[in-house]
Amino acid sequence: MVRYERYNAGIVKLGLTQIGPGKSLLASERVLILQEDSMAGDGFPDVIWIPAHSDRHKVKSSRQIDAVVLHVTDGKAVDAQQTARNVFAQPKQLGAHGKWQVQSAHYIVGRDGTVVQCVRHKDIAFHANEENSYTIGIEHNARDPGDTTLTDVQYWKSAKLVIWIGKQLGLPVFDRWYLQGHSEIDQTTTHSQCPQRALSWRTYMQAMADVQAMSEGRRPSMRLWDI
Ligand SMILES: [Zn+2]
Repeated sequence: MVRYERYNAGIVKLGLTQIGPGKSLLASERVLILQEDSMAGDGFPDVIWIPAHSDRHKVKSSRQIDAVVLHVTDGKAVDAQQTARNVFAQPKQLGAHGKWQVQSAHYIVGRDGTVVQCVRHKDIAFHANEENSYTIGIEHNARDPGDTTLTDVQYWKSAKLVIWIGKQLGLPVFDRWYLQGHSEIDQTTTHSQCPQRALSWRTYMQAMADVQAMSEGRRPSMRLWDI
């Protein structure tokens, strides 16, 4: 059981203070502030921060996080930034069956390995119904029905992300109790094949093991990753 605090808030506040009224900024200062804003996520290396619309997440000062939940998308986008901008950054939409569509996730991993963060860890994303309040959601671009597996670099970057989240939050993510698929943790979902329609758990856990082995200077498995 882990309590997550807003350890990163100082960076955002610094940017706002410098923008304060009546203060003119040099171009170089502006660049610095833009960089700080773009780093308003939780600090995963090379992450792109594209915040979700306020309709699509719930802001908290802190919360308890007990699991990471993996998903695959079924839209047309192969690109994580496209999903972030065209879906999660948009206000809620009225769906075909008269239900409001408010989905979001903390992260999206694209087929080229790009990682986008849309919701802060301390805030609640809308990805797994009743299980949202204590989980972190990660989407993986995979068009239905064309993409029946993830790309190697997508497995690899996602495994790196999950291991990093585990370290940040003190979650033992190699234990599948703390790392679940959408349809495992949320049995009410209509996405009954999420993420196993495209995500092989066997390959995913192999990527986790190899990322970990290499970070500890151990030999990875014989699988040749195309990364
Ligand atoms: Zn899902």
